[in-house]
Amino acid sequence: MTIKDIIINYSKKLENISDTPRLDVEILLEKALGGVDNLYIRLNLNKELTKDQEILFNDFIEDRLKGRPIAYIVENREFMGLDFYVKEGVLIPRPDTETLVEELIDICKSKENLHILDIGTGSGAITISLAKYLPTSMVKSLDISDIPLEVGKQNAITNGVSERIEFIKSDLFNSIENTDMKFDVIVSNPPYIPKCDIDTLHTQVKDYEPYNALEGGEDGLDFYRKITAQSKKYIKENGILAYEVGHDQAKDVAEIMVNNGYTNIYTKKDLQGIDRVVIGYKL
Ligand code: GLN
Repeated sequence: MTIKDIIINYSKKLENISDTPRLDVEILLEKALGGVDNLYIRLNLNKELTKDQEILFNDFIEDRLKGRPIAYIVENREFMGLDFYVKEGVLIPRPDTETLVEELIDICKSKENLHILDIGTGSGAITISLAKYLPTSMVKSLDISDIPLEVGKQNAITNGVSERIEFIKSDLFNSIENTDMKFDVIVSNPPYIPKCDIDTLHTQVKDYEPYNALEGGEDGLDFYRKITAQSKKYIKENGILAYEVGHDQAKDVAEIMVNNGYTNIYTKKDLQGIDRVVIGYKL
């Protein structure tokens, strides 16, 4: 089969499982052809795949038809213009999270030598893009699980920021409890899906992405309560607490912050117009 036939036939097959079937086929083709770019696909539409390439492509498609996210199949996701290696066990970085990172970069870009704490490393998306775009900052990145810490370390190396990041295994703040560390910025995109909503998530999220990166207790707010209350011990005067929040959680999270002494709280909308980021200052 030629590249063109594959695109036509398999885009149809993926229609039921994916919102972006054609894009998926092209990404899987790029990978099956050994990591070529999209331009190569466009310039070689009449090229036949070799037997090996076809076998590999069919494996990828079979996985995708079962619902496995494209990012896990090709082991890569772009975030903030950077490449992230991803695999099962880490949350796939989302465009919504770029709203949080962009806002932090904007409010921090004139400040030097910031000490930043990211709670919940995942792929390292937030940690690494902040280190990259705030080039004098030092970041500590905490995660309760081993896979995110490994993946984060790897991504820090490939993105050239590993000297300014420390990855620490920690259940929220507990590993730094007996230190006197204080941070200019504490950031988190914690698990925030209410327990009873997990079942309603798309197969590719609920059956593949790590449950403990998704579920935030009965009302989804457990981590905002815990992190905000504990953060007071670790945040500097005038320090910033910044969260990504679920689509209807901004008001509740702002209230939790007010109740813990944060001020000048504001929200930021994502590209779909949803209040996605809540930021406050500790005076
Ligand atoms: N900080 C990571 C991200 O935003 C992981 C977040 C999580 O696992 N809940 O992608």
